[in-house]
Amino acid sequence: MKAVQYVTPGEPVQVVDIPKPVPGPGQVLLKITAAGVCHSDIAVQRMPAERVAAMGLPLTLGHEPVGTIAEFGPGATGEFAVGDSVIVYGPWGCGNCLNCSEGYENYCSEAGRLGIQPPGLGSPGALAEYMIVDSIRHLVPIGDLDPVMAAPLADAALTPYHAIKSAVSKLGAGSTAVVIGVGGLGHLGIQILKALTPATVIGLDLSEEKLALAKRVGADHTLLSNADAVAAVKELTGGRGATAVFDFVGVQPAIDLAVQLTSVRGALVLVGVGGGTAQVGFGVTPYECSVMSPYWGTRQELVEVIELAQRGVLGVETTTYTLDEMPEVYAKFTRDEIVGRAVAVP
Ligand code: NAD
Ligand code: ZN
Repeated sequence: MKAVQYVTPGEPVQVVDIPKPVPGPGQVLLKITAAGVCHSDIAVQRMPAERVAAMGLPLTLGHEPVGTIAEFGPGATGEFAVGDSVIVYGPWGCGNCLNCSEGYENYCSEAGRLGIQPPGLGSPGALAEYMIVDSIRHLVPIGDLDPVMAAPLADAALTPYHAIKSAVSKLGAGSTAVVIGVGGLGHLGIQILKALTPATVIGLDLSEEKLALAKRVGADHTLLSNADAVAAVKELTGGRGATAVFDFVGVQPAIDLAVQLTSVRGALVLVGVGGGTAQVGFGVTPYECSVMSPYWGTRQELVEVIELAQRGVLGVETTTYTLDEMPEVYAKFTRDEIVGRAVAVP
């Protein structure tokens, strides 16, 4: 089967031909119908060789899988049948530790020790014709949702959903939320803020094309992401600053801006993986401001996100590509040229 793999550190991804996998005990074989492409794959491709070696190369990328069940491995049982359309919950954990027991499988404390890695981020991922899912527990039915629209929900919606839920209690009437980076995650983040809170939403990005996307998906205001945005947000918030700032970029200029935009008793939520960091401390971050760097989300939250999509509350702007086009798609990511989400259809 065809697969998109990161083979050699520092080199572009390759489209390769590998054997179709066979599901082992408890596993499920999915025929991939759509796979979203995430900017985190660029972070993987920029990791030092020794770090990426720990994930295991060659690595089939893709952590936003939607597919139909092709085959069950021995002993894989549950309320599913061959042909069912499902989305994969990606942050696989052990299912038994304290965090997993509480539903926070994304923060499994045993995954590292047990060698459990998410699909596309260690285990073979979704940018292929078929993919192995380690457990029935990691499947969520999507019914008749369009696979192309559904695939990005696995991460580009789940991650902002989890991040926004952590700050929702602060986002009452009269509050303001800033979204920095209106890409795959950001354009869904804006819609999730609108669905879950009465906050005024301000979208920031580097180009007018991305700001137009922010407007299309419901932002009340948009601003170019530069030093002028600090005064502009102050003006829009009566001098207070934003109640919550969600950074979906992670590079140093974006994080520096995020810190300056956040209000006293606000929330600074750093989601982007761009190598930047924030200094936190008295007199540096606003008084009593919470700071979080969340990772992905819970299975329950994925179920909720699917529900929102099925009710038409969330829409994903997608452009589809073939697996052969993936090297060019990743090149576009490095130039910030992807609008909405790129989705591979094998
Ligand atoms: P994307 O490329 O689709 O979107 C990023 C957007 O940020 C683009 O629109 C780009 O124009 C914009 N941008 C770049 N520099 C900016 C700046 N200085 N100010 C404002 N906007 C700027 O990427 P994505 O797939 O949405 O991912 C966003 C980030 O979130 C990535 O760093 C990714 O690795 C990370 N991520 C984190 C998690 C997590 O669990 N914490 C999960 C998924 C993705
Ligand atoms: Zn991702």
